[in-house]
Amino acid sequence: MQARPLELQERLRAVRVRIDDAVTSSGRTAPPELIVVTKYFPTADIRILAGLGVADVGESRDQEAAAKTEELAALGLHWHFIGQLQSNKARSVVRYAHAVHSVDRPALVTALDKAIAAEQLSRRDGALAPRPELSCFIQVDLSGAAGGETGVSGHQRGGADPADVVGLGRLIDAAEGLSLAGVMAVAPLGADPAEAFARLGDISVSLCSRFPAAAGISAGMSADLEAAVAAGATHLRIGSEVLGDRPPLR
Ligand SMILES: *Cc1c(COP(=O)(O)O)cnc(C)c1O
Repeated sequence: MQARPLELQERLRAVRVRIDDAVTSSGRTAPPELIVVTKYFPTADIRILAGLGVADVGESRDQEAAAKTEELAALGLHWHFIGQLQSNKARSVVRYAHAVHSVDRPALVTALDKAIAAEQLSRRDGALAPRPELSCFIQVDLSGAAGGETGVSGHQRGGADPADVVGLGRLIDAAEGLSLAGVMAVAPLGADPAEAFARLGDISVSLCSRFPAAAGISAGMSADLEAAVAAGATHLRIGSEVLGDRPPLR
C-alpha cells in the first residue's frame, strides 16, 4: 500500500478502537455511527476512506461539498452537511445531502422544505426516482449565548436557543420532505464537554417526549468523542483524528 492509504487505515483503526473503548466503558450496547469529516481534504482521501468501509462523510461548506459529491457520486456515500447553512444554499444542499446537522432557525426549515419540493419536481421531470426525506438535526447552542449576547465563546458556531428546540422540531416534523432526526451540538470552547453533552442529552429527552422517533444525538469530535459517547451520542463527527491536521483554509 502507498503511504496515504496506510496512514488513513491506521488512523481510522485507532479511532474505531477509541470509540469501542468509550462504548465499553460507558456500558452502552449500541455503538454510535461514525461520520468522517472530510472538509478541506481532497477527493482522493475520500476514495481511500470509502475503500476502508467508511459510508458516511461530513462536509461544512456547500461549494466544496457540491463539487466533491458530483465527482464521487458513484461511491454511494451518505453526505452529512454539518456547517452553518445560509437559506440560499438550501437548493444546492438538497441535491446531495442525506442529512443536515445544522438546522437552527425557522427560515432554514422553510428553505429546506421548499428546496426538497423543487428537487422532487426536477427529478420527476427528469424521470428520476424521488430522493428520500432529508434527515434534519436541530443544532443547539450550548454556550448560553443564543439570545444574542456578545462575547460568550461558542456563539459564533451557530445553533438554536435550547428553549426553541421543541418549536423547531414541530416545524420540521410538519414539513413534508423533512424528517426530524434529533439534536446536534458542538461543545462550547473552554467548557467541560461532559457537562455540555449532558445538557444536550436533557434537551434530547424533552424533544423525544414529543417526537419519539427523533432520538438522534449528533455530538463528539476528535477531542471529545469519549464524553459524547458517555452522554449517549448516536452520531460522532470526527475529522482531524482520521485525516490529520486540516490544510489551511483556501
Ligand atoms: C470540522 C468539524 C468537525 C470535526 O472536527 P475534528 O475536531 O476535526 O474532529 C465536527 N463537527 C463540526 C460541526 C465541524 O465543523
